[in-house]
Amino acid sequence: MAKAKGGSTKEKKGKKPHKNKPTSKKYAKYRAEGETIARQAKFCPRCGPGVFLAVHKNREYCGACHYTEFKES
Ligand SMILES: [Zn+2]
Repeated sequence: MAKAKGGSTKEKKGKKPHKNKPTSKKYAKYRAEGETIARQAKFCPRCGPGVFLAVHKNREYCGACHYTEFKES
């Protein structure tokens, strides 16, 4: 390969500046109501508690195991 054009030669290769990851949106699906926790979404029946199903227009989908539940309406 030819030389990469541009860029500074001072920076060390293989190191990227650290960036904080955005917080998981998982916790947005929980809501504390008094002493109990209300869950806004369904859990995946295959993955078990902790894995939420993404709610779509006509289906609910698990991103972890690709489980899909179709809603008929
Ligand atoms: Zn799943």
